[in-house]
Amino acid sequence: MLPFIRSDLATFTAYTPQPGGHGAPSDAVDCLDTNESPRDLPAPVKAAIAQTYQQTIAANRYPDGSHAELKQQVATYVDRSAQLPPGTIAPTQISMGNGSDELIRSVLIATCLGGEGSILVAKPTFSMYGILAQTLGIPVRTVGRSPETMAMDLAAAQQELETPGDRPVRAVFVVHPNSPTGNALSPAELAWLRQLPAHILVVIDEAYFEFSGTSVVGELAHHPNWIILRTFSKAFRLAAHRVGYAIAHPEVINILEKLRLPYNLPSLSQVAALTALAHQDELLAQIPEIVAERSQLQAALQSQSHLYVWPSAANFLFLTPVSTAAQSSLDPWFTTLMQQGTRIRHTAGGLRITIGTPAENQRTRDRLLALLT
Ligand SMILES: *Cc1c(COP(=O)(O)O)cnc(C)c1O
Repeated sequence: MLPFIRSDLATFTAYTPQPGGHGAPSDAVDCLDTNESPRDLPAPVKAAIAQTYQQTIAANRYPDGSHAELKQQVATYVDRSAQLPPGTIAPTQISMGNGSDELIRSVLIATCLGGEGSILVAKPTFSMYGILAQTLGIPVRTVGRSPETMAMDLAAAQQELETPGDRPVRAVFVVHPNSPTGNALSPAELAWLRQLPAHILVVIDEAYFEFSGTSVVGELAHHPNWIILRTFSKAFRLAAHRVGYAIAHPEVINILEKLRLPYNLPSLSQVAALTALAHQDELLAQIPEIVAERSQLQAALQSQSHLYVWPSAANFLFLTPVSTAAQSSLDPWFTTLMQQGTRIRHTAGGLRITIGTPAENQRTRDRLLALLT
């Protein structure tokens, strides 16, 4: 129909976000489908952002395209978050993205575009790697996961690396801990990633590391072919502002800086991220509560016998059917929950439920147990 458009794009469907987004004041729905923080910023923190907007941002001026102050503060946070000596990670090892989604796209462009390579992922995992690769015409090679532990099938992954074809694997994408399955990288997975050759980029997405307390950032100095991705969208409660960052060797960062749009981060988003970092102790204080709520919900849901509840190191739970009967009931269960006002994700043959406020989790538990028992 549009003869000027690349033929492969005709077969893709656009990502369809929830109309209106989440969290409108009139919204009586429990939004437990996108792993956001259940709480908005504390009012004084939000007010500080608004005040900075009013007093110091000139709306007619472009944002700081160097992100200089933000990179400095992020580097300081990265050190602190991994108990590294201050100054371990330099600002030259940080690149800021319009959400980590933008950084994922830059990584794909930098490694595989123009028929130069393919990426490897272990399914199920974060869907955005595959979606963005597809839009760039980059092949996605997939391997499976252990039905017992959800660890990636390393033998199959190794096999893929050794079968170059005309588009060898240039980048491996892993999430630590993984979404939707909730497992952190195992010692065997980490050992495999450590020995990958220098011509393969290892992307370790730590979107949920504040919940798991696990990070590989301390190992980065030994691995110039590693890149760690993080986001302000989850633990830092800034999903509305679209701020993500990459941590890597300065030469890798230089490439990402070449690829990003000059003013990719609006001034207000930079202020929001700086303000959140200035209040990090207060914002991250909710993490122990979310982790405790996760354990309680997990224990409660284990009392039914239709869905297996996977252990989780993140701010969500993943449930998979234990029988074919349960499998065919997933969709009706999902729909009923939606009608009752609990919005979760039906994905990868299971249900993924974000941990919300205690009241939301109570409703999740009551509604789900009523359906399942
Ligand atoms: C939520 C999430 C992100 C965050 O993406 P943003 O674009 O920064 O909002 C990145 N990776 C994974 C695995 C996620 O679940």
